[in-house]
Amino acid sequence: MGYSAFKVFWQGLTGNKGWQPAWREPDPRPQYDIIIIGGGGHGLATAYYLAKEFGVRNVAVVEKGWLGSGNIGRNTTIIRANYLLPGNQPFYELSLKLWENLEQDFNYNAMVSQRSILNLIHSDPQRDAFARRANAMRLSGADSELLGPDEIRALCPFLDFDNARFPIQGALRQKRGGTVRHDAVAWGYARGADMHGVDIIQNCEVTGIDITDGVCTGVQTTRGPIRAKKVAMCAAGSSGRVAALADMRLPIESHVLQAFVTEGLKPTLPGVITFGAGHFYVSQSDKGGLVFGGDIDGYNTYAQRGNLPVVEDVCEGGMAIMPMIGRARLLRGWGGVMDMSMDGSPFIDKTGTQGLYVNAGWCYGGFKATPASGYCYAHLLAKDQPHEVATQFRLDRFRRGAPIDEKGVGAQPNLH
Ligand SMILES: Cc1cc2nc3c(=O)[nH]c(=O)nc-3n(C[C@H](O)[C@H](O)[C@H](O)COP(=O)(O)OP(=O)(O)OC[C@H]3O[C@@H](n4cnc5c(N)ncnc54)[C@H](O)[C@@H]3O)c2cc1C
Repeated sequence: MGYSAFKVFWQGLTGNKGWQPAWREPDPRPQYDIIIIGGGGHGLATAYYLAKEFGVRNVAVVEKGWLGSGNIGRNTTIIRANYLLPGNQPFYELSLKLWENLEQDFNYNAMVSQRSILNLIHSDPQRDAFARRANAMRLSGADSELLGPDEIRALCPFLDFDNARFPIQGALRQKRGGTVRHDAVAWGYARGADMHGVDIIQNCEVTGIDITDGVCTGVQTTRGPIRAKKVAMCAAGSSGRVAALADMRLPIESHVLQAFVTEGLKPTLPGVITFGAGHFYVSQSDKGGLVFGGDIDGYNTYAQRGNLPVVEDVCEGGMAIMPMIGRARLLRGWGGVMDMSMDGSPFIDKTGTQGLYVNAGWCYGGFKATPASGYCYAHLLAKDQPHEVATQFRLDRFRRGAPIDEKGVGAQPNLH
């Protein structure tokens, strides 16, 4: 069913009895053209664009839990397109453009809020680096500007400008950055894909990938075997384990990343703010809670929960730039499993097995990538050619000596 202001009004008058489930709960069919493994944001977006933009509708998304149980429902909801390297920035700019029209496109309120993102600058070399980044952003068509301390003071009087170790000297601002209600993104894409005929199959774990003579022919699941012409892995933090079902080893480590929410406060933060001398980022949800996070815990794990030393580390980052956060009470914290690649950049590629594709390596930044990742993966699956903004997200880039090392820190996931 379509959603509109009139429908909300009418349902309000008639006891809200006419709403229907947002998507069907079909049983798996014996065969599909394409099976997508993983019903997170990227898997659902891929299915949606496959059906809507590329006319491929005989598609199933197979999810081992419930929609939103993975990182799509666990992230800190930040969207932005403020990358530096040509392999990355045009892709993230496409994503931001897709975010800007997403709610109209799939007729669902995802609370896309372009409330801006400020990356704080604490030293002269950092200002130079951010000026370079701002120029790279503009070259890809994105917006960017450099602010001085007075402009930031007018926006965020609560920041600690004169901190002895990390004085705030300026900021890189992207006004079109902001936040999106993360689980509504999964629901909106699921509903949109379902409306175009895609089967979304929850509580169905893929336990095997069938390969005969180098050709992928389908998957084994907890609800029986399903045949497919193409199988698309899209399992984020579980990518390594899913790829192992096809005897593949990915250049990925799985790490836990935590997020935190405080009690609701009056509107305080003008947008997303990131600390430039440590790892801390914060925004304010529409309910008023400060939503923040920092570093990964720093050891390999598949557990969706973190440990106290990182809680302390993240809170120290918050106290360094906005001491008033120390007065807020922490309500909740949780963890999600990150698929950290060795250069911090993702993969959208074919594999060495015919008919088997991979979408993985999204690290901390996969939420903002959701629309473009879905669009470019759908492009690859439908046409067997990479989309023009995703040509460098290849699996063999390390062998070729062509990593997309955005942060210049090499193969150290804890630094990406
Ligand atoms: C705490 C935290 C904060 C973050 N903050 C941000 C942020 O602010 N901005 C940003 O851009 N990114 C952020 N991220 C990263 C972002 O959330 C992820 O990169 C992105 O969500 C990953 O893609 P996904 O949505 O498809 O993943 P998921 O939602 O994890 O989807 C993968 C799905 O695959 C399923 N699956 C796994 N194995 C199988 C199997 N064998 N069979 C069937 N299904 C399977 C899982 O159940 C899961 O639902 C954050 C992540 C975390 C954890």
